[in-house]
Amino acid sequence: MSIKEIYKTMEYGPAPESATAAMDWIKDHKGKFQLFIGGEWQAPLSKKYFETTNPANKDHLADVSDAGAKDVDKAVKAARKALPVWLALGAHGRARYLYAIARQVQKHSRLFAVLESLDNGKTIRETRDIDIPIVARHFYHHAGWAQLKDTEFKEYKEVGVVGQIIPWNFPMMMLSWKIAPALAMGNTVVMKPAENTPLTALLFAEICEQVGLPAGVVNMITGDGKAGAELVNHEDVNKIAFTGSTGVGRIIRKAIAGSGKKVSLELGGKSPFIVFDDADLDSAVEGIVDAIWFNQGQVCCAGSRLLVQENIAEKFYKKVRTRMEKLRIGNSLDKAVDIGAIVSPQQLKTIDEMVKKGVDEGGKLFQPSWACPSDGYFYPPTLFTNVTPSSTISQVEIFGPVLVAMSFRTHEEALKLANNTRYGLAASVWTENINLALDMAPRIKAGTIWINCTNVFDAASGFGGYRESGFGREGGKEGLHEYMKPRSEDELLSKPVTRDQKVAKTSKTEIPQIDRTAKMYVGGKQKRPDGGYSLTITDNGGTPIGEVGEGNRKDIRNAVEAAHAGSKWTSMTGHARAQVLYFLAENLAARGDEFVARLQQSIGVSEADALKEVELSIQRIYTYAAMADKYDGNVHHTITRNVTLAMPEALGVMAVVCPDEFPLLGFISTVIPAMAMGNCVIAIPSETAPLTATDLYQVLDTSDVPGGVVNIITGERDVLTPTLADHDDVDGIWYFGSKEGSKLVEEKSAENMKRTWVSNGKHRNWLDAEQGEGEAFLRKATQIKNIWIPYGA
Ligand code: NDP
Repeated sequence: MSIKEIYKTMEYGPAPESATAAMDWIKDHKGKFQLFIGGEWQAPLSKKYFETTNPANKDHLADVSDAGAKDVDKAVKAARKALPVWLALGAHGRARYLYAIARQVQKHSRLFAVLESLDNGKTIRETRDIDIPIVARHFYHHAGWAQLKDTEFKEYKEVGVVGQIIPWNFPMMMLSWKIAPALAMGNTVVMKPAENTPLTALLFAEICEQVGLPAGVVNMITGDGKAGAELVNHEDVNKIAFTGSTGVGRIIRKAIAGSGKKVSLELGGKSPFIVFDDADLDSAVEGIVDAIWFNQGQVCCAGSRLLVQENIAEKFYKKVRTRMEKLRIGNSLDKAVDIGAIVSPQQLKTIDEMVKKGVDEGGKLFQPSWACPSDGYFYPPTLFTNVTPSSTISQVEIFGPVLVAMSFRTHEEALKLANNTRYGLAASVWTENINLALDMAPRIKAGTIWINCTNVFDAASGFGGYRESGFGREGGKEGLHEYMKPRSEDELLSKPVTRDQKVAKTSKTEIPQIDRTAKMYVGGKQKRPDGGYSLTITDNGGTPIGEVGEGNRKDIRNAVEAAHAGSKWTSMTGHARAQVLYFLAENLAARGDEFVARLQQSIGVSEADALKEVELSIQRIYTYAAMADKYDGNVHHTITRNVTLAMPEALGVMAVVCPDEFPLLGFISTVIPAMAMGNCVIAIPSETAPLTATDLYQVLDTSDVPGGVVNIITGERDVLTPTLADHDDVDGIWYFGSKEGSKLVEEKSAENMKRTWVSNGKHRNWLDAEQGEGEAFLRKATQIKNIWIPYGA
């Protein structure tokens, strides 16, 4: 071909990366890999192996151990044994190991990148320039956190043995996002990589060996979903960290309900990519390429729903189609390829079926004119227009290179479309108008918002979902909390704190005689119970002292509706919320004597104890009023040209099932922090002594608490709690009660992936500030949103 002809066609020549070093590494292991347990390579007790292949050409790469139940048990035991050794090293000792791992990953980065491309089918361009550098950065960054553990997080300790299960789409990246923070905070790990992509995890295990990581600190068990399930269900695992499908996430949430295991779930998404008419359209087109064709669209936060302002929609689609024609697909080791292979024939089939469904449902399909290679599992970049927001392909995560486009007229409509999903992992907003971008950012329900950028990640920033995209964060300071627990958790009690409680002498004079049933408090108004039934409340000697409404499902539903109507509270400033809370404290103080008398009457405590409970309640309201504008976020030092704002946001509508003991202090200590952070609350007060809570109605009324911010439903907690845990419009639920109740809450909350905080039958000493108040409450009432804003040169 002459130079002139080359200029004319501008054809790319092949630019293959050599696979030799990676294939030699496999050969050195005779193409067969054992499990890495307790610092040794061990043949699986199951005696089973499975094959791993290269999806770009279907070549067999290696045979890998298929761990069975006994292997998983062995690995957990090794991790348990290693825990004291790892802890004894101290923060600096652990930091040195993490640093050494980072160095080794960097030194072997080319081998990692090639092996990852071979095993997964993703392009070498991505593994070399994105995945592996992010992995090294993660270990470096967390080497720093390991060093700082004892100074920055004095009040926290490790969780223990952590089971980690990762998917195939970013095998090494997911490994680093899980192992680095876990080790940095002093935990030991058993990891199960995905069946489709085990090789780089095994190479990583070798690195652990090379740096002399103490035996059992990291254990690598390859296997399928069954091995994952064994790990999840193992009794001696203290925490499960999972990334994968929402379906499996739900199974895991249910499987460990009531076990007391900590859990973080990073699940699926259907993230919006929003283009306003003033956006730099050519940059936005490149953004689209990164959003949906990066890693063949097999990205949990892929910008798979394109929302374009109507007046530029056709022009923009045309630009996207033109760009699609220029994308290059092929062998993952070709350095000039944009799109590699799909991970497996099953995944290819799923994508194909979803695309057919899209066509059947009336979507207009565009695929480039060029054909995909036929020697591997390839799928062309695909654009659907003419789709409705409710169509299957607009709602379901396809996990492939398929973009679904819709248009909008106003920015309010864009917002509605963006939030019209059960997921909430990420969103990307494209506009030159910073005001518009920063108006959208807090209102989109997603864990990460990228402004004029997309799919950028860094160890210094948290990543994770809202809603059915799961909970917990990976990366950033916020991610470390997934691998720590407050030291005070070890001090929780198996029985409620005992106070000197005498049988109350119900006084007819001190307390206004009750001649009416206390109603519910819904939407700022007192409401009769829907069922028309009431419960008789007695003092602790069994003498009736009043009646309260017996709440039912309908009352709960009404309260949830009212709580949603109160959502303006969420957008009020912290200062404004604080003012309301101070006023509440003031009004409670003004009526303190009544509450003292009520406590004496209901639970038979001495006047001094009742006074103490009222006084502490007032103090606690002050604490959270103070924190309302002080529990702020961070500006993360991410490495790209951005500022990344880590903003704590309210969960939304929260249910709080208050402790039965300490009818006033227990209520205040749980409901007020949730309110302070901007949540609207449905509270189930103490079942045995609810009159203290119903006495609060007037205090709430006189304190300018807007209607719907606090809703109080009295009744039997075992009847009311399941309805709350089941409710799809409740975003979070705290439950302070029995072990069985805790299990039920966690199980039922799996359906819409509610954030849960349960007491597992343990009790707090609400009189003690260590256990009864503090940051833990605020953290549980919020979730971190990371907003990436281009900044600087
Ligand atoms: P899964 O959720 O099934 O797999 C993720 C990990 O969990 C893998 O290691 C898997 O093992 C393991 N696993 C599977 N079942 C269980 C179980 N019951 N208990 C514990 N661990 C289990 O994802 P898939 O790989 O099957 O992909 C299916 C779909 O999930 C994709 O099409 C995509 O939509 C979505 N997905 C989302 C991801 C995300 O990051 N949000 C990542 C990957 C997939 P094994 O690999 O052996 O099956």
